[in-house]
Amino acid sequence: MKSLAIVGGAGRMGQALAEGLGTLGEFSLVALVDQIEPRDLFGASFATSLDELEPSKLDVVINFSSPEGVVASATWCAKNGVALVIGTTGLSPEQRESVQVAAAHVGVVMASNFSIGAVLSERFAAQAAPYFERVEIVELHHDRKVDAPSGTSIAAAEGIAEARRRAGLSPLEDPTTRHTVEGARGADVVDGVKIHSVRLPGLVAHQEILFGSAGEGLTIRHDSFDRQSFVHGVALAANAVDATPRFLDGIASLIP
Ligand code: NAD
Repeated sequence: MKSLAIVGGAGRMGQALAEGLGTLGEFSLVALVDQIEPRDLFGASFATSLDELEPSKLDVVINFSSPEGVVASATWCAKNGVALVIGTTGLSPEQRESVQVAAAHVGVVMASNFSIGAVLSERFAAQAAPYFERVEIVELHHDRKVDAPSGTSIAAAEGIAEARRRAGLSPLEDPTTRHTVEGARGADVVDGVKIHSVRLPGLVAHQEILFGSAGEGLTIRHDSFDRQSFVHGVALAANAVDATPRFLDGIASLIP
């Protein structure tokens, strides 16, 4: 049974993971690390820094905090030979570099989406991409999300564009030539694959990938209704990673 510490343990994701990973029976939750005291400790101890913990009692640090928190965890894990799973998004190139440096010393998995359904929908979209004339993505999130479009939709667009390129298809050209209002046709992220971002209270994280050809359509929809949707992907990553140096970008390779 692997022993875990969750950095960002007082946050929305930290609390959901502490609850969800605890109930799987595969892990021992040692500590929740945060700048503020968590609402619920789920049987773990509370620490304000990884420095307060005994490295020999930990197998994996899970980080869902802030980009600065990721750098601190990467440095600590590399120094102490503890594996690292990172879900925090919004890292700068320099902060990503510090993760790469850590991966030269310990195992690191970093993913912008730990939901297994989201990873599979990206895979299915790449599979469908060569067979349809056009594709557009609609991503829908709660109104507290500060970035747009979502990292998940950008990754899906890149996967679709790559699959189209491999099939010898040209970049998509927008049939709309007259834009009455700028922005109505969404963001052109890669090779003309449009992404439309919706932000509404009450939503969590949702995405529709819409394919169209003459006479037929295919919609691949994924919904994260709850933060528990990330638990199984984080568990996969925590089970896969150990102190052996390596870097895993995303969890797709962990889902055969
Ligand atoms: P949140 O604001 O609710 O929680 C973040 C917590 O981290 C807070 O309690 C904060 O005090 C703590 N924190 C910040 N900096 C810290 C540091 N240096 N040391 C210790 N604790 C620190 O945010 P959230 O909704 O839980 O999301 C956290 C991160 O996870 C965000 O970057 C979000 O985009 C990302 N996220 C990723 C996925 C995924 O599948 N990869 C899914 C959901 C959220």
